[in-house]
Amino acid sequence: MRRKLRVLFAAYEAVPFMKTGGLGDVGGSLPQALKAAGCECRVIIPKFMTIPDEYKAKMTHVTDFYVSLGWRNVYCGIEKLTYKGVVYYFVDNEYYFNRERPYGYFDDGERIAYFSKAVVEALQYLPDFKCDVLHCNDWHTALAPVFLREFYQGLPLYENVKTVFSVHNLKFQGQMSDYVLGDVLGLWGIPAAASQLRCDERSINFMKGALLYSDILSTVSKTYAEEIKTPFFGERMDGIFRDRASVLYGVMNGIDTQSWDPATDPLIPHHYDLNDRSGKALCKAELQQELGLEVNPERPLVVMIGRLTEQKGMDLVQRVISEMLDRSVQIAVLGTGDKQYEDMLSYYAWERAGSCSACVRFDEALSHRMYAGADILLMPSLFEPCGLSQMIAMRYGTLPVVRETGGLKDSVKPYNQFTGEGTGFSFANYNAHEMLFTLMNACELFWTDKAAWSKLQDSAMAEDFSWDRAAKEYLSMYEMTHPEIEPWRKRKDGETTEEPVEETAEETAKETVEG
Ligand code: ADP
Repeated sequence: MRRKLRVLFAAYEAVPFMKTGGLGDVGGSLPQALKAAGCECRVIIPKFMTIPDEYKAKMTHVTDFYVSLGWRNVYCGIEKLTYKGVVYYFVDNEYYFNRERPYGYFDDGERIAYFSKAVVEALQYLPDFKCDVLHCNDWHTALAPVFLREFYQGLPLYENVKTVFSVHNLKFQGQMSDYVLGDVLGLWGIPAAASQLRCDERSINFMKGALLYSDILSTVSKTYAEEIKTPFFGERMDGIFRDRASVLYGVMNGIDTQSWDPATDPLIPHHYDLNDRSGKALCKAELQQELGLEVNPERPLVVMIGRLTEQKGMDLVQRVISEMLDRSVQIAVLGTGDKQYEDMLSYYAWERAGSCSACVRFDEALSHRMYAGADILLMPSLFEPCGLSQMIAMRYGTLPVVRETGGLKDSVKPYNQFTGEGTGFSFANYNAHEMLFTLMNACELFWTDKAAWSKLQDSAMAEDFSWDRAAKEYLSMYEMTHPEIEPWRKRKDGETTEEPVEETAEETAKETVEG
């Protein structure tokens, strides 16, 4: 059978409806790219009170039903909105989602369990959509694969549904009191399920459930997919990642290549592209001026943009910042985070005025000017599941100096002095002087070999960090779950065969209920 795969992408956040972090960007960009890559992807998220009215006003009611949650029987409405060609479903329940914030309430475990159950229940009520792959993301949807197998297994419509679970943030796993297992999840009477979810005598772990129940697992870079099999990175789940290594994949996130484009970016003072980077030199001069740094094209301008935490390698920077500043390097940091690092940077900005600048705030517009005006982005992270800043920097011809971990290792090709190839510079060990040595090597090249530097910038700017690349990799993953379906996207050029008409979800749902 040859047809498009039908994917329901379940997430707690999706731009422009809800965003608190990177997951929101993924939920906003990936489904569109998946559609373009050739699958029928729809998204399901909660109908939060804070979704802007302009979208709420356009939603239409699809259906409603009741969801059982332990001893509760809870209302669930499904609303629908097509946004940028993608169908979004919204799970409507005023009691759970009519609140100021998406997280941070006493009953988060119950609300999130409700969302996962509602997603699974909804599969049989969505007209014109029969799901092949349910793609769940992070702990907010981690229970969906568990519910699917424990409560819906055997029903014809659900037999066909395979599950993919993506880990974006391994720190938040949804650890709850054991009490939730019976009272909310209704799994008390299923000892096998209970033991899979339990992480110690008194608590259960939602994400552990997804990691054990899903057909395929993924995380946000290939190197991180390897790293999480070790105790240091694995956040106590490393044993499961090792056991399930054969179904664990890494797919790097993309960036929004339209809003991050130095040729059109409205937030930078001068535009440039791969063929003509003269605008970048002007951006640098203006940035140096704006930040109170000496306006000098020969001084390498090194920027850091991100959270000021140990994860981002700030302790390494603290150790050698004065040595860096002694060597004619300029350092400009934009970020907020741990107070000790904020204070340290503010101190050096005062002590080394003209060479060091610290902007301790969140400033989207300034971040664009910094990506455009800098020569080097320093990102010496202790761990980095994927990382966006290094990809944005490369797109702006700003060469990254990174530690070889997670997505940094996968996205930055280190400079090879013999072939001239590369898109940046990298070092292996989490060591302050190894970082300093690598940074100074980069500066040496900046000072002494403009042609080699320019070639690296060419390669960095030409890299493909679009969501289209990521979508193709996800699509290949989905296809593995349904070998019986010949993917529609593999049609030869010029072939015009229509997709086969299939029974509707409504018919199948009827069949399921009667079955
Ligand atoms: P994280 O671990 O914080 O998600 P990423 O590199 O994946 O790190 O993404 C961070 C994103 O947030 C980047 O797009 C970066 O430009 C942006 N960012 C971080 N801190 C700031 C800030 N203070 N001002 C503006 N943008 C910021």
